[in-house]
Amino acid sequence: MQSPNQDKSLHEESGSEVNRRVLIVGAGVIGCNLAYELTKRGAAVTVIDAAEVASATSSATFAWVNAYNKTPAEYNKLNVLGLEAHERASRTFGSESHWFHQIGNIHIAQTPEEMAALKRKAEHLVSTGYRASVLKAGDVLELEPALDPERISGGVLFPHEGWIDTFMMCSSLLHAAREAGAVFLSYETVTSISSTGITTKRPDGSTRQHEADVTILAAGNGNRPILATADITFPTVDSARRHDTTSAGRPSVGLISTTGPVDSGIRHIVQGKDIALRPDRNGGVTFTDSPTGGQWGLQDPRIWSVPNLLLERAKRLYPSLAEATTETVRLGTRVLPEDGLTIADWIGGSRSIYAVATHSGVTLSAHLGNVVAEEVLGGQRHPSLDSFGLSRFAS
Ligand SMILES: Cc1cc2nc3c(=O)[nH]c(=O)nc-3n(C[C@H](O)[C@H](O)[C@H](O)COP(=O)(O)OP(=O)(O)OC[C@H]3O[C@@H](n4cnc5c(N)ncnc54)[C@H](O)[C@@H]3O)c2cc1C
Repeated sequence: MQSPNQDKSLHEESGSEVNRRVLIVGAGVIGCNLAYELTKRGAAVTVIDAAEVASATSSATFAWVNAYNKTPAEYNKLNVLGLEAHERASRTFGSESHWFHQIGNIHIAQTPEEMAALKRKAEHLVSTGYRASVLKAGDVLELEPALDPERISGGVLFPHEGWIDTFMMCSSLLHAAREAGAVFLSYETVTSISSTGITTKRPDGSTRQHEADVTILAAGNGNRPILATADITFPTVDSARRHDTTSAGRPSVGLISTTGPVDSGIRHIVQGKDIALRPDRNGGVTFTDSPTGGQWGLQDPRIWSVPNLLLERAKRLYPSLAEATTETVRLGTRVLPEDGLTIADWIGGSRSIYAVATHSGVTLSAHLGNVVAEEVLGGQRHPSLDSFGLSRFAS
């Protein structure tokens, strides 16, 4: 693992202020990428988390890196940059960046009608420069021989997509940042924020003040309550209110289930009309609840029928899963800005608090870590962030 200070070329190029004190609240995919990028540029970084590294939404994610179905155009572009940033990180870290599994995604069609629609979509994506190849049924089966041939009409391959082992990415980047001097404080909850820093509470009830030149909020669904302590309304959907079924309308709670280790023969991310699946770090297969997601809140017992439903759907596609059983189920609450896009911006005029909140955060994390670090230390806002400021919520 390359430590941030070893990358002298980038440090020199950035021309950034060295030893600026930066607090990062949140050790998820966003906070850990930021910690790495800021330390690399010479900042004195402290990361604070109410729990452990990659323990919140970043642990309950399908973690698919893609720019597929992302609208509007600026958001699509941001996701393309996200994918490219992970590719660059893989080259930088070499074999040690084993968190980006760039195995490609095959979207399968099970009927000629589905194939026709998929083909149109692929042609559109290719016209925008996105890499995609239309496959006949035989091509799909050559790439994914464990699929049941009776159920396949064709498909589209997106060869540059992949999935991130989020625990591996977060812990490796945080480790590299710490080796270069960053400090990580786990189990400290931020209870208030001001322009000079934050107050935290520890499990034993004690409190601490942390001062900084800049505090970056990368606390996912925690950003909103933290800013509320300073009477600032942060425009993400209130996660405390969307766990019940009455606040329906947004797919905020998602379910990820994983089998135990199994010789499934699954080689790619595979998307069907009612399931998406991929290999996982335990040697099993992970499923996501698309399009079941968001129908039921956390309090609704029907949500627990989803893992069985997903396993049944997967078994129909892959006979090799016949004996597989569900080993873990994770429920994740999406981090959702009110318009479903990304927020990366200063809070107020003093330039002492910056906040990042986004869905698709796994895809975007390496790019956001890079450009937000540059903005916070160097003062220059990357053009890809132009549409993702807070001013769009002003009305
Ligand atoms: C079911 C599901 C599927 C998804 N699939 C994909 C996908 O395929 N591809 C993709 O790109 N994205 C996907 N996402 C979205 C992605 O997972 C999130 O955008 C991303 O994980 C958000 O990361 P984060 O670092 O912003 O937040 P988090 O991972 O939530 O991290 C925030 C951290 O802040 C800490 N924190 C919160 N409040 C406080 C406080 N007061 N004091 C101190 N610490 C605090 C928390 O403990 C946590 O560790 C999915 C999400 C879900 C739920």
